[in-house]
Amino acid sequence: MAGAYFFIILSQVIIPLYAVLSLWRRKDWNNREWVFAVSLGAAYLLFLFVVTPWGFVPYPLRYVWPLAFLAAAVRSFVRLRREQEQGQEPGKRPSIPRLSVFWHGLGALLFGIQAVNGVRGYFYPGPALDLAFPLREGVYVVGHGGSQRIVNYHNVSASQRYALDITALNALGLRSLGFEPKALDRYAIFGHTLHSPCDGTVRSVVNDRPDHIPPDHDPEQPAGNHVEIEADGIRIYLAHLQRGSIRVKQGDRVKRGDPLGKVGNSGNTSEPHLHIHAVRGGQSLFEGEGIPLTFNGRFLVRNDLVFGR
Ligand SMILES: [Zn+2]
Repeated sequence: MAGAYFFIILSQVIIPLYAVLSLWRRKDWNNREWVFAVSLGAAYLLFLFVVTPWGFVPYPLRYVWPLAFLAAAVRSFVRLRREQEQGQEPGKRPSIPRLSVFWHGLGALLFGIQAVNGVRGYFYPGPALDLAFPLREGVYVVGHGGSQRIVNYHNVSASQRYALDITALNALGLRSLGFEPKALDRYAIFGHTLHSPCDGTVRSVVNDRPDHIPPDHDPEQPAGNHVEIEADGIRIYLAHLQRGSIRVKQGDRVKRGDPLGKVGNSGNTSEPHLHIHAVRGGQSLFEGEGIPLTFNGRFLVRNDLVFGR
């Protein structure tokens, strides 16, 4: 996983820092160079903002980079105009080489397409099931969520199309202290109390699966410890809970806000998080038609924050 962490540092720290600094410091722009450099930088940063998951490096950087890039773009534009008004040559080179225009343009197009795909994930068809957000002890960030595969890997499954994976951020804006630590309590969300998102009846409970040490996981029992609640013919799954933490049993009536258990790391999970999805029809975990979910009216998408307290 060291390779994955290096890739995250490269894409979310080193490349945006380079994009901002190179725009901020360079003097000898001509118009065309400036347009291509700003287009590529803007497309890349939009891609980072929307598509890549934040919380492995401090979450606030998600906002720092676009603001810094905007400041650098304004500064370099003002400088370019001033040089031109003063009759200076608008650059030491008459134009950038064709290849550079090609690569800048291609890069802007590719990142732009992916970013637009991510933005499409904010839209969903038809009415959604509105639920109460089930966590209250911290700041939560959506890892997977939205209506497009690029921001929500569940999207390929008919039943889990609108499923969400939710993690929490610690005071540093990180999902965990360290990258993929072995100790589960280093993950900000581990042990947070899960509250019922709706009124309903408990349809099934599993409470005896082990909490795995990352990157161990259990593909055989994907939901791990979970609670399934039935409400108005809709089944809602809340999964990957802590072993032994679930305090409701099959047949119990639950009210919105009732404590159900604690967030853990059981089942097919890469790190402690809450998985939630709702289906209409079917009987078991992978049956039924997935329903879009809103929480207090909000359709949550990757990187959305929810302030639980
Ligand atoms: Zn999930």
